[in-house]
Amino acid sequence: MKNLSYESVIKEIKRRLSIVSLIEAYLSLKRSGKNFVGICPFHDDKNPSLHVSEEKGLFHCFSCGAGGDIFGFMMRYNNISFPEAIAELAKRADVPLERQYRAPAREKSRANALFRINSLICKFYHKALLESQEGKEALNYLSARGISLETVKEFNLGYAPSSWDTLTRILDAKNIPLSMAEEIGLVIKRQNKDGYYDRFRGRIIFPIKDVDGKVVGFGGRTVSGEEPKYMKSEIYHKKSILYGLDRSRDYIRREKHAVVVEGYMDFLSLFRAGIRNAVATLGTSLTREHAIILRRYTDKVIVVFDGDEAGKKAALRVLVVFLPEGLKPLMVILPEGHDPASFIFEGRQDEFQKLLHSAAPILDFMIERNMRSFEEQKTSRSAAVKEIADVLSKMKDTIERSYYIKKTGESFGVREDELLSLLKFGDKLEGRISAKKPVNNDERLVLKTLLKFPKLVDYICEDDLIDIFPENEIKTVLEHIILNGFDDLSSLLFKFNDSSVQEAISEVVFLSDDVPDEATAWKLLKDCIRKLKLKRVEENLRVVRIKIDRAIAEKNNLLEEKLIKEYRDLIQEQKNIRGRD
Ligand SMILES: [Zn+2]
Repeated sequence: MKNLSYESVIKEIKRRLSIVSLIEAYLSLKRSGKNFVGICPFHDDKNPSLHVSEEKGLFHCFSCGAGGDIFGFMMRYNNISFPEAIAELAKRADVPLERQYRAPAREKSRANALFRINSLICKFYHKALLESQEGKEALNYLSARGISLETVKEFNLGYAPSSWDTLTRILDAKNIPLSMAEEIGLVIKRQNKDGYYDRFRGRIIFPIKDVDGKVVGFGGRTVSGEEPKYMKSEIYHKKSILYGLDRSRDYIRREKHAVVVEGYMDFLSLFRAGIRNAVATLGTSLTREHAIILRRYTDKVIVVFDGDEAGKKAALRVLVVFLPEGLKPLMVILPEGHDPASFIFEGRQDEFQKLLHSAAPILDFMIERNMRSFEEQKTSRSAAVKEIADVLSKMKDTIERSYYIKKTGESFGVREDELLSLLKFGDKLEGRISAKKPVNNDERLVLKTLLKFPKLVDYICEDDLIDIFPENEIKTVLEHIILNGFDDLSSLLFKFNDSSVQEAISEVVFLSDDVPDEATAWKLLKDCIRKLKLKRVEENLRVVRIKIDRAIAEKNNLLEEKLIKEYRDLIQEQKNIRGRD
């Protein structure tokens, strides 16, 4: 919560200081159209490549990629930390920094008010599930999926009636300010008219609780097949929330490991089947905050993935988040087409337990994967080794690290000292110019559109959509926006005071053409997402083709048949995506 008050200080400083005058104190700027340009101080610049926009409050260099807001400029130019830059600029803007100490008390009472509202709404939804006619159908739906009445009661599951104003009227009758309910994403203001309407309609409601069991938000799953399948309200402290942790933390301590699954249904099915040391991420990627929370209870975390390519990619992302926090991530990949809920539903809990017992370190999986991709000549030895070295350098446990350095060296026939020289410790100091990677235009456009029309974020909240984006800074920002929403550029930059992400943001804001209105933006967004989806299918097709060749060479008919089916499915998926508009 300290961040919020910090954020308001930052906004005030930005409001008072002009980025053009600030940068002009260090180098000369010339007007060029709407912007200003100057010789970039961050690389050996011959022609003015540094662009500064007063309107956007950003600078960006189109040669070396340096970019950000006034704080970013100060940090870079004077080689100081983010708090130092704030202190310095607060002085110049005459903004008292003490203000941050007054905010927490206010914040606290506001948080308490939100919890009270949430708990009231939670009771309302729960009652609607148990007692209304519509609720009965939802209960049937749940029980058909193996969620018993007992579990419904234990986890306070609820139902949001399908009418437009049931919740709105209840809140109104209880004198709860609807503006507050709007803030937490449960009602929506009517356009061009007074009043509000319910955001969740005709959905099964999963109250999301923090580790102390306080309701911090809600997830809603459609019963009628309406899109999106899942949606969430605003969630308090969302980056650190793991569904079910309030119930499972003691089991995690006792079992000395945690099982991480994706959805509410996965969690509830496992819980019912007696696997109680689980938590769910609710369709979002694991964050550093999740890692920090889990570490309080155990250092061994088994992440359960679906057996598709996206799941495997997500596995690698877990490494990057967990290793620096000293956690040992292991993984289980379920058979194709399964998730934990469907597995348990088929009565295969013993098999599931066996899979958990045989979970392998994600790092081993990565080494094996890179080994394969090197053997199949899809990647060079040095690229394959470099990717592993990057992950190893994030590893906190030095003994484990030595073990993996040895293992990687042996697998790839690389000397240990060569490997050691590849490990870059203190990741922050990455070379600016060499680190710049060209970024695909579609992702950029998606980000640009969402920054301009934050409301559209809701439309792309499909659960696994984030997986179609390649791993880079743009994805980091998108993930953040999808998870937390977006209110303004300055708080977004504040969240990422790491230079490479700031660069990506400033580049996107500067580069892309302006999107005139929401309708155009929506069309553009759909188009970009379609292209990205196609690209992913094409990638998958390539991989399957290679696998088929291998199966043929190995005369493995069964596998070949299975892969050909997979190939056909992908072709069908490709057709579906192509034919969608
Ligand atoms: Zn530059």
